[in-house]
Amino acid sequence: YGDFQFSNIAPKQNLVPVFHKATQFFNNVALCDSVGNYTYGNILIAATELSKQISQKLDNKSNAKCFSFVLTILPTLLHTVPVSSSHPQSMIEYFANDSESKLLITVPQYSELMHTVSTNTKKILIVLDNNFRKSTTVTQNFKQNLDELQSTNILNKNALIIYTSGTTGYPKGVVLTHKNVTNQIHTLVDAWRWTSNDAILHILPLQHIHGIVNALLCPLYVGAKCVMLPNFDPNDVWVHLLGVKTKPECPKISVFMAVPTVYTKLIEEYKVSFENDPKIHEYIKTNLKTKVRLMVSGSAPLSIPLYEKWLEITGHRLLERYGMSEIGMCLSQLYDSEREPGYVGVPLNGCSVRLTEKSDDGNYNTLLECTSVNDNMKVHLNVKPTEDAVIGELHVCGSSVFKEYYNKPDITQQEFTNDNWFKTGDTCQYSVGKKLFKMLGRTSLDIIKTGGYKVSALEIETHILSHPNVIDCSIVGVPNETWGQVVTAFVVFNQNISIDDLQTFLKGRMPPYWIPKTFKVVTTIPKNIMGKVNKTELISTLLNSGE
Ligand code: ATP
Ligand code: MG
Repeated sequence: YGDFQFSNIAPKQNLVPVFHKATQFFNNVALCDSVGNYTYGNILIAATELSKQISQKLDNKSNAKCFSFVLTILPTLLHTVPVSSSHPQSMIEYFANDSESKLLITVPQYSELMHTVSTNTKKILIVLDNNFRKSTTVTQNFKQNLDELQSTNILNKNALIIYTSGTTGYPKGVVLTHKNVTNQIHTLVDAWRWTSNDAILHILPLQHIHGIVNALLCPLYVGAKCVMLPNFDPNDVWVHLLGVKTKPECPKISVFMAVPTVYTKLIEEYKVSFENDPKIHEYIKTNLKTKVRLMVSGSAPLSIPLYEKWLEITGHRLLERYGMSEIGMCLSQLYDSEREPGYVGVPLNGCSVRLTEKSDDGNYNTLLECTSVNDNMKVHLNVKPTEDAVIGELHVCGSSVFKEYYNKPDITQQEFTNDNWFKTGDTCQYSVGKKLFKMLGRTSLDIIKTGGYKVSALEIETHILSHPNVIDCSIVGVPNETWGQVVTAFVVFNQNISIDDLQTFLKGRMPPYWIPKTFKVVTTIPKNIMGKVNKTELISTLLNSGE
């Protein structure tokens, strides 16, 4: 604990150097799934409990108190590395080592797993007891502390290391500063109209921006309530969303956020449990829209058929947004406008985007540049759009954009342009007529080059998913000497239908070169915790099987 003592912290203005010492000592802290049952209000009470645990562990009461004070007053100060017990043990060890975390914190149900991690990584482990789940109301402190940060030099210090989902390779540690996180919170609170009257039903993993910033820090910042469920149970989610049969102290849910696969699972549950009961059916249709003011989808593409199914069942138009661990939220449909399915909206305030094309010399030509200030979008076109659309790789710049990949200076440098724009690696389309952006997918995986054409896997997927007998689908480009890449479909059917039927169905809906040449019927498409398909793995499984 170095040389800081509780007595050092008397006048408030002297706190900052103490915080610095605390941060220097702990460097990074890995938190494993510190989600509790029904945590109303605030989970940062963990800080007090944590200090007790630390005091027992280190037998140094005054320093533990100081640590508790640090965490309670400025809870976001330590660089935290949220991880999840759903990751295999080896992955948690990788996160703990790669982030050079000094302390591991977990809850009793994962203590066995984390003890092994602690032994293997030689890091201190603290297991919280379950008391920290009691409710408390210190959310207003969080806002005050975050606002006070503005006037300190802490803003440029690291706040969080978020590991990317590992969809395109091994997860990278994204370092976000307090300025990045604060900016992300301010932007979303504003854009999605968070107020202290809100209550969010939180079912997302806390190790991604979606779960920790969008769904937890935003409600904490405004003093709203956050109801956390211990795990994802579709029936339980319906019960909470509808506000029926919940405990009396459970607040009425006004906001819900999820990845597309969660909405798919909720629809499946609806079909099993409610569809045949006309009363519940009607209740959902008339109530959900008025009870829950905002339902957000993101982290993976939301297909139009899924959007429409959800609308049909609940009357709710999902708000789709696009973001990354590296940039926070970047594009979002507008809260007050009509939501056009298939589009992810416009840049959030303070976020600048470019659509670019890589030239032969490796530099990027800007096709379009766009910024939003006070909800006014300014678009600057450098090219004449073909068929109303400009397509290019998305580059982003703004205060939410991360500082660096932890301990990976080469990759960091590679992912920024010379004029400091972050290259997202995603391809995007801007519709001049609609003034909206649409995601076409990852440039390296979803933009398939076949017979001289470039096609978007996401657009093909959305058409295939509109077939009534298709439950799930994923499109990949498989390397091929003649075509460059062959459009290949993995499909899951809900009953036996012939591929010929599916092809005939698609013929009327898409250009011939979009129609997959190969179909692989599977029982399920493997997805990670954020509902993302690892397409590199799909392609290599196919190639290894010799097909
Ligand atoms: P890794 O970088 O390790 O390969 P990842 O890119 O999946 O993993 P994240 O930062 O969690 O890790 O996810 C960001 C990616 O998620 C984006 O680059 C984009 O491809 C995808 N994404 C997010 N929101 C949307 C959306 N609304 N529509 C389509 N894709 C989305
Ligand atoms: Mg990524």
